[in-house]
Amino acid sequence: MNDLLRQLPRVDALAGDPALAHWPRERVVERARKLLDETRGRILAGELRELPDLAKALREGLAALETQRLRRVVNATGIVLHTNLGRAPMSEAAAKAAYEVAGGYSNTEMELHTGQRGGRLRGVSEPLCALLGCPAAIVVNNGAAAVVLVLSALAKGKEVVVSRGELVEIGGSFRVPDIMRVSGAELVEVGTTNRTRAADFVDAITEQTALLMRIHPSNFRIEGFTERPSTVELAGHGVPLVEDLGSGALQPGLGDEPVVGQVLADGADLVIFSGDKLLGGPQAGVIAGDPALVQACRKHPLYRAMRLDKMVLAALEATLREHLLGQVPVAISLMKRDPKAMAKQLKSDLADTKLQLSVIAGVGFSGGGALPGEGLPTTLLRVSVPHPERLSAWLREQPMPIVARVAEGALLIDPRTLLDGEAELVVDALRRWGDRSGTSE
Ligand SMILES: *Cc1c(COP(=O)(O)O)cnc(C)c1O
Repeated sequence: MNDLLRQLPRVDALAGDPALAHWPRERVVERARKLLDETRGRILAGELRELPDLAKALREGLAALETQRLRRVVNATGIVLHTNLGRAPMSEAAAKAAYEVAGGYSNTEMELHTGQRGGRLRGVSEPLCALLGCPAAIVVNNGAAAVVLVLSALAKGKEVVVSRGELVEIGGSFRVPDIMRVSGAELVEVGTTNRTRAADFVDAITEQTALLMRIHPSNFRIEGFTERPSTVELAGHGVPLVEDLGSGALQPGLGDEPVVGQVLADGADLVIFSGDKLLGGPQAGVIAGDPALVQACRKHPLYRAMRLDKMVLAALEATLREHLLGQVPVAISLMKRDPKAMAKQLKSDLADTKLQLSVIAGVGFSGGGALPGEGLPTTLLRVSVPHPERLSAWLREQPMPIVARVAEGALLIDPRTLLDGEAELVVDALRRWGDRSGTSE
């Protein structure tokens, strides 16, 4: 043990590695000292029989800090709104708008023609109202924030009536009863898990009722003996009706996904939906509908804590303009695409390799809590290898990481979510794997 302690290098010697000369000296010294302290501790605890390569450990630790962790990847899963992969891929115009305001100053809160202060939401509220056919709309950081803001601004200390069939968990820690509690609203559950009628809501209305709330069953489906009151049935009972639509769609034609403008036309006083689901924009949460209710949310102190960044505003404005012009967002075009020809092309591009390939029918998902239960019929490239999880891990480690699915003992590539130029990256990577390992791995 003493021997090992004596072998420990000095901080200066360890930190003096010329390979680390581009780092500020203090940072290297600090990390070298920490590494030596930890190693000393492990020696004293009797955990080490020989000294590890400390110079290498120091270099690797710093190298990890030097590489950008959050970066572009290729989505070969076919899941269009994959939350782990950043949800909606934005259009080039939206990405460019964000990029342009990012690297300089911008008129985030200034009217250029007067030089006076101007509202930060100018560029997004008006297009939203035009798209949804409603008089008022604001946007905050995400859908979850929008729900918290609506409940805090409109229902604090009061009651909110919700169906027992809609007390959902959206993922992570977003559970409706918990959100009610942190917002200071009292949850009044009505109906049953599978059946709730409009009368259940109406009977629960008291002096204390602030809102009736409908929550879209985004990520599950109750089938069989079920009943759920419609927007029309719940509207007009003298208490504002709020609908958390999750994704929602601006146009009909995407399965059962509710059309936001229609929900407002049916009588909902407020709707809430996300910017990065079927809207196809950046992460954001829209609150739209009745002007007095929207204004109450806008004036609540929490709004300031949830307000959007200029890059998001720029990207969202560009996304909304494309909707207004009738252009289809990238996410929706991917959802509507038929990947069969692409899958066949991938197979033929790899025909000269030793890889065992087949083109098979499969089912994909929209993801992002849109179109629950409605699988998207798709066509997959199946790569049969003895250890598909090894291939999958190797693909994720490529300079341009590729994320694919592993199922039933094979690697599956769903070309649905491959964007321009990405099929070539997949072909190139699979070819290199084939060359590397033949068919033996
Ligand atoms: C996705 C979803 C949310 C949360 O929206 P984020 O933008 O992800 O915060 C809230 N409610 C429902 C019904 C959803 O589907």
